[in-house]
Amino acid sequence: MKYKPYTLHNFKEIPQIQKLSKQTILEIETISRIFPLRTNNYIVEHLIDWENWQEDPLFIMHFPLKAMLLSGHFSMIETALHDGASKSEIDSLVRKIHAELNPHPAGQAKYNIPVSENRHIHGMQHKYNETLLVFPAHGQSCQAYCTFCFRWPQFTKIPDFRFALHDIQSMISYLKKNPLISDVLFTGGDPMIMNIKYLKEYIEPILEADLPHVRTIRIGTKSLAHWPFRFLTDPDATEVLQLFEKVTQAKKNLAFMAHFSHPRELETEAVQEASYKILKTGAQIRTQSPILNHINNEAGLWHAMWRKQVDLGMTPYYMFVPRNTGNHKYFEVSLIEAWNVFRKAYSNVSGICRTVRGPIMSSDPGKIHIVGVAEINQQKVIVLNFVQGRNPDWNCKPFFAEYNESAAWLDDLKPAFGQKEFFYQEQLNRIYDKLTP
Ligand SMILES: *Cc1c(COP(=O)(O)O)cnc(C)c1O
Ligand code: SF4
Repeated sequence: MKYKPYTLHNFKEIPQIQKLSKQTILEIETISRIFPLRTNNYIVEHLIDWENWQEDPLFIMHFPLKAMLLSGHFSMIETALHDGASKSEIDSLVRKIHAELNPHPAGQAKYNIPVSENRHIHGMQHKYNETLLVFPAHGQSCQAYCTFCFRWPQFTKIPDFRFALHDIQSMISYLKKNPLISDVLFTGGDPMIMNIKYLKEYIEPILEADLPHVRTIRIGTKSLAHWPFRFLTDPDATEVLQLFEKVTQAKKNLAFMAHFSHPRELETEAVQEASYKILKTGAQIRTQSPILNHINNEAGLWHAMWRKQVDLGMTPYYMFVPRNTGNHKYFEVSLIEAWNVFRKAYSNVSGICRTVRGPIMSSDPGKIHIVGVAEINQQKVIVLNFVQGRNPDWNCKPFFAEYNESAAWLDDLKPAFGQKEFFYQEQLNRIYDKLTP
């Protein structure tokens, strides 16, 4: 299959778009000024159920809809377009709206940027000792955009909002100076949007630098779900697989962190063949996704996903709680609901699928597992546990929040038993004081 993208400028050429009302098409055009529309011919032809588009999770995942925006924001743009506002007026309106949508949640822009010789190195985040996040400058878009994406500021072309690494040598020298780092995690956007030339430019220097402490190269990607032909028929597909093989032959783990949000993304022949080819290079495929209202807020979908992933040789890894950024209200699932979905799905699979952990909030202080609801001395509480603390000393020490049925993020939770703050708060404040530039 040859890649054909659809964006704001050509999506009306999709034949099935005729099924939508004129009003819906107009709304998509309006909203995609704020959350850019990008999908492709594989998704349109093989994943979306056009007969049922209103309710179809795959449609909702790829087309920005009016319900995803706060109503005030929608009317701002709608009025401006209606009044024939100039491009620069629209752009400045869009910037204003973006700024109101919490573009850098979980302290990413403030507290995760690594410092070397007192200079911030942009394009990387180093929050947990073992793992360096790298945002390759050429990997900051995707083969398709998900409407729920928490990395949406990466696609807005507004430089302040973007992480992008241009200087590969600074990554290598940072790795040399930080022997605690065992994992380099390429993320984006989607690093697999890069052609083989760029992929090599980022990955080969790590192999050549011969750093025994760097054991794992991870690639965070939705390419298997969005464009499996990246590993089958793209002009450089064979070379990409050869590069993966080069990594595994250098005795490094290559962990392909694949994002799947719905079982349908695992059903096509193309995705199954592509997974097989990736695994044959010696790479591992680990899977993760947020739990999202309107997309996958149902236990049956999750156990179907985990089973299918295991059938295909993948390892289920994380179920995330969506971050409080962008249009999260539309996709929000309460923590209790997420836990119930996880629990039901987990109870329906064998131990082989239970490598998955969740629901997990990737929050300021770290990755927090919602372990469940318990009753202690006749008081109902939510049990939480760090699987990754900003301070590693916080890991694996269960702690308690007041029971709260509507809470959807850490900010909504209060410590149980009348405590003023969670046990980590004072240390977190001190870490932040130290990191404040
Ligand atoms: C999730 C995350 C990682 C990776 O964590 P693992 O638990 O090792 O998968 C690394 N850095 C940041 C900033 C993260 O949010
Ligand atoms: S593929 Fe990943 S980074 Fe790209 S839009 Fe989807 S969720 Fe966001």
